[in-house]
Amino acid sequence: MSQTYFQKGFGLRSTVGPVLAESYDSRVVDRLRELGHAARAGDMVLKLAREFGFCYGVDRAVEYAYETKQKFPDRRIFLSGEIIHNPEVNGRLVDMGIVILPPADDPVARYREVGSGDVVLLPAFGVPVTEMQHLRSKGCVLVDTTCGSVLTVWKNVHKYARDGFTAVIHGKHYHEETKATASQALTHAGGHYLCVRDKAEAAIVCEFIRGLRAPDDLRQRFAHAADPGFEPERDLAHIGLANQTTMLMTESLEIQEMLRAAMRERHGEAELAKRFQAMDTICSATQDRQDAVLKMLAEGGLDVMVVIGGYNSSNTQALARICTERLPTYHIDGARCLEPGAIRHQAVGAHEEARQEAWLPAGPVRVGLTAGASTPNNVVGEVVARILALRGLDPTALTSA
Ligand code: SF4
Repeated sequence: MSQTYFQKGFGLRSTVGPVLAESYDSRVVDRLRELGHAARAGDMVLKLAREFGFCYGVDRAVEYAYETKQKFPDRRIFLSGEIIHNPEVNGRLVDMGIVILPPADDPVARYREVGSGDVVLLPAFGVPVTEMQHLRSKGCVLVDTTCGSVLTVWKNVHKYARDGFTAVIHGKHYHEETKATASQALTHAGGHYLCVRDKAEAAIVCEFIRGLRAPDDLRQRFAHAADPGFEPERDLAHIGLANQTTMLMTESLEIQEMLRAAMRERHGEAELAKRFQAMDTICSATQDRQDAVLKMLAEGGLDVMVVIGGYNSSNTQALARICTERLPTYHIDGARCLEPGAIRHQAVGAHEEARQEAWLPAGPVRVGLTAGASTPNNVVGEVVARILALRGLDPTALTSA
């Protein structure tokens, strides 16, 4: 029987490497790196965070997508949603003839047009268990690019479910990764999950644990963020905390402490270890990017911050949140957002793009830059070039700061 499940690529790095470099590398970013991540041009200083852009999981997923096209040139190739949250990268895959299947709750509907001879790429976030089972039953070829850091979260959630703990997931219940992670809790009989998006939602759960909220209230509020059989009284008696890998680290830790305190108050210190577990499952790439931007902000001296990444990219949103608390920050998805005299951006918490005039202060200015884990270097380079162009400069003017 021929192999139909691939998880480690096809060993075609040497073939696709030059295409990937041509598509996603940037001479401008290389130059900024050579200059120690800080450069001057005219009266502008640009500082680039030490860690930014493509992470190991995204690198690998994008490479496997290109390898898949090489390996199966004559087959139809489908992608289960976006491979990563970056419009440029997804657009290039579409240009290569890969069909992106839109999200749908019902796997049968989502994969209706996929046949047994077709190839389906699974994204770095992973897919829910029911989708995986459905795809396996179709007999199509599966190229699974699920990131190892996501698989680690799944392992923890499995362990919680096996041990009778409900997985409380700090994540967005509608995000692909969190949907896939939550589904792992249901692979054990009696497994349950509850997703909390932020501290406000965690506070509601804590109120219930302390006996200050009715079960019906909790059930209603989290109807879309918990499994259908979730019973608050029964299922919040033992909880295990996990995170979507790309959340804001500081918030995840705060939520962990909030829930720990509520469980301690409700059940007492002696019971705590038997009823509450927490595993930090923020991935190291997310952590490194958040740490790097915090360090850059702590060094001070910046007038404005530009955060580059898809608007639906969770880790880019987290970077924008960190920066917005300290200085004027613009989350943009690429160089198209920079117009003469104005910037198009999405503010933290907003769902639509806004346009801001006079965003770049006149005269000497220091601009900070970072990019989410799904943003390729070529997009970062294009943004740098466009910012310089706003002052009549180009990247050849970059010198040591
Ligand atoms: S952000 Fe983290 S979990 Fe997501 S693909 Fe990158 S390394 Fe993997």
